[in-house]
Amino acid sequence: MKGKLYIISTPIGNLEDITLRALRILKEVDIIAAEDTRQTLKLLNYYQISKHLISYHRHNEETKSNYLIEKLKEGQNIGLVSDAGTPGISDPGEEVIKKAIEEKIEVIPIPGACALISALICSGLETKEFCFLGFLPLNKKLRKEKLEEIKKSNKTIILYEAPHKMKTTLKDLKDYIGDRKTVLARELTKIHEEFIRKPIEELIKEAENLKGEMILIIEAEKKKEEKIDTNLTIEEQYALYENQGLTKNEIIKKIAKERKTNKNEIYKMFIGK
Ligand code: SAM
Repeated sequence: MKGKLYIISTPIGNLEDITLRALRILKEVDIIAAEDTRQTLKLLNYYQISKHLISYHRHNEETKSNYLIEKLKEGQNIGLVSDAGTPGISDPGEEVIKKAIEEKIEVIPIPGACALISALICSGLETKEFCFLGFLPLNKKLRKEKLEEIKKSNKTIILYEAPHKMKTTLKDLKDYIGDRKTVLARELTKIHEEFIRKPIEELIKEAENLKGEMILIIEAEKKKEEKIDTNLTIEEQYALYENQGLTKNEIIKKIAKERKTNKNEIYKMFIGK
């Protein structure tokens, strides 16, 4: 029988942020594939787990995933972890997961800490819809494309960024999207955890001195209020909304709101329509 591949989330700072299930699976699997074995050892030692570790990182993803697939085919169960948070999210994991699926090997998520979600939920910005873009590319053309995407998006945007690149990223954002409200979430779950809620311009001034791991969340662009074409008569406006498929009641309500007049006044004008 083939083994199972468990994708295990680990803490993003505070070692207590790991589920009971994750700890049990880490104890039960035959092999743990880790992004940095030294980093994972700290976690395993803390929980007194002793296990065979194999390194699986960006630079050996291709070869190591073939090796892991062989082990899975032999029936060994494998737990995949990254240095912190959820594997596959701006971290290695995709390659072996794709191959495992092709080989009809069961891939099982063991959910837990994920930096972007922790930052978003306490940001105070809209959480209903959001767009996670990971790290902005360094390549000029690709970076420009991403910045354009951010400019056009009307969803909350989440970016990961290294501390020494934060100032440049903020400046680029300012140039493309203007001075929008942002939240910089820093050192989450650690002693110096901090949420800085400021417009981009103000954040640029502070960025130089900020240290540690950080995430940038950008407020969704406010939907522009629908403007009435003041050249239209009320009748023309009515016809326009009728063509858009609105009901009589909806049209009257909309016109009254846009013209800041009483609904009944508009209603009287269209009795029998
Ligand atoms: N897979 C991880 C996750 O989603 O939880 C993220 C790994 S990615 C290589 C590392 C980036 O995640 C950091 O550069 C930072 O932007 C963010 N990050 C990770 N831990 C964090 C923390 N404790 N506080 C703030 N940001 C963090």
